Amino acid sequence: MGLWQRLSTAWRERAEARAVARRRIPDDLWKRTLARYPFLRRRDPADTAELRRLTSLFLDRKEFSAAGGLRLTNDVVVAIAAQACLPILRLGLDRYDGFVGIVVHPDAVLARRTTIDEAGVVHEYEEPLAGEAMERGPVMLSWRDVRSAGYSAQEGHNVVIHEFAHVLDLADGASNGLPWLPPELPVAEWAAALQPAFASHVARVEAGEEPVLDPYGAQGEDEFFAVASEAFFVAPASLKAEHPAVYGVFVRFYRQDPLAEMPAR
Ligand SMILES: [Zn+2]
Repeated sequence: MGLWQRLSTAWRERAEARAVARRRIPDDLWKRTLARYPFLRRRDPADTAELRRLTSLFLDRKEFSAAGGLRLTNDVVVAIAAQACLPILRLGLDRYDGFVGIVVHPDAVLARRTTIDEAGVVHEYEEPLAGEAMERGPVMLSWRDVRSAGYSAQEGHNVVIHEFAHVLDLADGASNGLPWLPPELPVAEWAAALQPAFASHVARVEAGEEPVLDPYGAQGEDEFFAVASEAFFVAPASLKAEHPAVYGVFVRFYRQDPLAEMPAR
């Protein structure tokens, strides 16, 4: 490593240490967060310490705002930041550089949608959204859904991880279920795992079966990547049983193996 690189690494480490000190998460708040969201806690102490450090950095870099009369307490922002940092535990926070704002609503938000059916008739309806991620835009989250993540994990669901998987997917400008892949994970291997899994998920949902993954994942390859990522982090055994090839490429993409790191208790 050259002198300039050493200096810039040292500078970055100092800046990060200052940010972590500025946004230090008190012990009782951190313990409370781990107690509420068991999938954060089932890690070795080094991972948990790194998650806490990244959570502080996340709080320092991102801007939270509240809507609909919600009060942004420390519990709210730390719950969101800690869950958002789980997917990038080994990838680094820079992966989230594409956006700054997070808007937290007390409950799901009704989005106005329009569809045109086969007869050309326009239908307008309202869809309740627990979260939404847009390119460069703020990430929207419903606190009611974030708060219940300890329970919804049993069904393999997690709204924060869902939306931040979209952020990873959107980083290259396209929402297509293909995030930026490291050189050691060729697109062909990714597609060979994801495409058949998506097709079988769509077929099972259309047949009225109840797959482990959220049926919403049948909406498109971007949604399939997001719902499979949710399960990967909060119900890894279920994802591995249903889609072992997807689990395998996710271990390489996220550079972590939640099943190995989450021993049965
Ligand atoms: Zn989605």
